[in-house]
Amino acid sequence: MKTKIKEVEKVLDIVPMKNWKVYKQRPLMVAGPCSAETEEQVMETARLLAESGRVDVFRAGMWKPRTRPDSFEGVGTEGLKWLKQVKEHYGLPTAVEVATEKHVYEALKFGIDILWIGARTSVNPFAMQSISDALQGVNTMVMVKNPINPEPDLWVGAVERLCKAGIKHVGAIHRGFSSYEKTAYRNQPKWQIAIELRQRIPDIPLLCDPSHMGGHRKFILDLAQKAMDLNYDGLMIESHIDPDNALSDKKQQLTPSDLVQLISQIVLRDPETKDSDFINALHELRSQIDIYDDQLLDILESRMLVAETIGKYKKEHNITILQSARWKEILTRAIEKGEKRGLSSDFITVILEAIHQESINHQMKVMKEA
Ligand code: PEP
Ligand code: MN
Repeated sequence: MKTKIKEVEKVLDIVPMKNWKVYKQRPLMVAGPCSAETEEQVMETARLLAESGRVDVFRAGMWKPRTRPDSFEGVGTEGLKWLKQVKEHYGLPTAVEVATEKHVYEALKFGIDILWIGARTSVNPFAMQSISDALQGVNTMVMVKNPINPEPDLWVGAVERLCKAGIKHVGAIHRGFSSYEKTAYRNQPKWQIAIELRQRIPDIPLLCDPSHMGGHRKFILDLAQKAMDLNYDGLMIESHIDPDNALSDKKQQLTPSDLVQLISQIVLRDPETKDSDFINALHELRSQIDIYDDQLLDILESRMLVAETIGKYKKEHNITILQSARWKEILTRAIEKGEKRGLSSDFITVILEAIHQESINHQMKVMKEA
């Protein structure tokens, strides 16, 4: 793990990532249809988005990685001509998804400004390597969507392959992760993975794609706001002139006017301030947080010591570590108490499961001791 991070840092050292931020406004807004369908649909969507003045880059998918066969798989190279016209007519830089070397060559031939790599491609190191090889020596921007698996290393690895190929302008797009469990969102955000990516590779822009994350237009504003509050650099949002009749992702697309309205509702907060009163107040509050964190650690340490003593008794009396009835009792009690304190049952469950697992690990160690 350590060496891998070092390797990324080494690559990033020689790549002036910070220069990537060529766009003036935050958030950098990438918008456009999930799929290019017809020349009219592409041109009309682009016209409305360009005229709004709120969109920096026009996106449209030409080759669509669909989960099931017999779905609309995109118009292919034909649609790149329309993107070229979008740039010529409306002056918007364009972005397209590439999944193979051939897509890269086609997109470059048509002068596409930004290439993005989809979640079903960034998950595959072979595909990432062949795309990176195809991009050697090219000065195009490339954005890497998070892989469908919630695996930070895979995402970092995908970025790393592009950096190693000498691509100077690399960015990341957080679009959420697949899971078997059905949740309200189409993909689980797992914000902590994007935060980890940002910590490990701080100088590349990070965008959020709330369209694919939410899977429905009703979730987009909340997710976009959350991303901006986490200081993301930009957003990629799907927009279609007639979402209900879109050939892909119809539930999550917004009309250009709904998109513009949504953008105006996002509250942009500054990541930093020079206001010394605010800085002092924040400093003091953060000191309080540090004190509470220290107390939490002290309490956890004491709790583990008690768990170890229980482990010794269990060993002496030849009793199993896991006592399901007791565990259920602990959890129910804590959820009830937590709710009265404004702590959600999800939060309490996650915390207690982690604490319980750590107690089991400590008791296992005790059992093994001679
Ligand atoms: C898309 O942007 O249309 C797309 C297919 O995205 P993802 O790879 O995130 O599913
Ligand atoms: Mn889509």
